[in-house]
Amino acid sequence: MAQAPRQFAFQHPGLDRNEHLREDAQALDLAWPQSKIIIIDLQGNARFQTDAAEMVFSNGSEIFAERPDSTSFLGQAGEQSWFAVRAEFIAKLPPHAVDLRTAAATWPHLEASIFAQARALLYWQERNRFCGACGNALSLVRGGFMAKCETCACEHYPRTDSAVIMAVTDGERILLGRQASWPENRWSVLAGFLEPGESLEQTVIREVLEEAGVHVDRAEYAASQPWPFPASLMLGFHAYAAPQEAKAGDELEQAQWFGAEELRDGIASGKLGISPRLSISRWLIEDWCARMGVSI
Ligand SMILES: [Zn+2]
Repeated sequence: MAQAPRQFAFQHPGLDRNEHLREDAQALDLAWPQSKIIIIDLQGNARFQTDAAEMVFSNGSEIFAERPDSTSFLGQAGEQSWFAVRAEFIAKLPPHAVDLRTAAATWPHLEASIFAQARALLYWQERNRFCGACGNALSLVRGGFMAKCETCACEHYPRTDSAVIMAVTDGERILLGRQASWPENRWSVLAGFLEPGESLEQTVIREVLEEAGVHVDRAEYAASQPWPFPASLMLGFHAYAAPQEAKAGDELEQAQWFGAEELRDGIASGKLGISPRLSISRWLIEDWCARMGVSI
């Protein structure tokens, strides 16, 4: 089914991951000298030798003469191979840092998606150095996409935390909430993490009830957004409820229904703030307003 282009970060298809090359050491060694390298530090920032705003990625040969095992093969854009390297493996840390949110807003879409991929993968690597089954050290294999325990042979794979984010409507209004820690007048659609044994639809229903006291009748999947802050996938839903009172639970300071025109006017006057355009949260609100015939 054809879908309109969406307007949030990390939606670029990204690299051809070329999974078959991950175990082809010869091909990776050959690609290394001319490959592009994204260096990620422990804070999850990309590091550059030159001014980060110039976004000049080093070639493999400028980092190491030969490809070390500690590098991760991200994939290819046409003939161009990309690798990710953790800053801890580089003797002299490049001085300039750029965070992923800045990159999402300012970098070309392909490079922003590469950064998101590298950050998510390397975060998993950094926090999975030992086997959860037997406690012994793990070795990274398959281009950094698997960690193997040499002691018990257990295989460990990168994990992604599933979170749902939902535009709940009662047919006339949309349900938004605000956390006490947010800037004054900032509102957003509700969101929450999947619990073990739950379907996504069950998570939507449970979270909306917990956070706003609203009973959702039905939830339909809309779109997803990688959200590697540090390791999530945001799964966006349209959710439908009968008209009823909203009452904030423990996690929110306020939960409230808004009409589309009320939202538009509040945003225009600055009395009401919603998420930046990079987020699926913003897109869900804009999409609902558009369905109500209101442009925000
Ligand atoms: Zn083990």
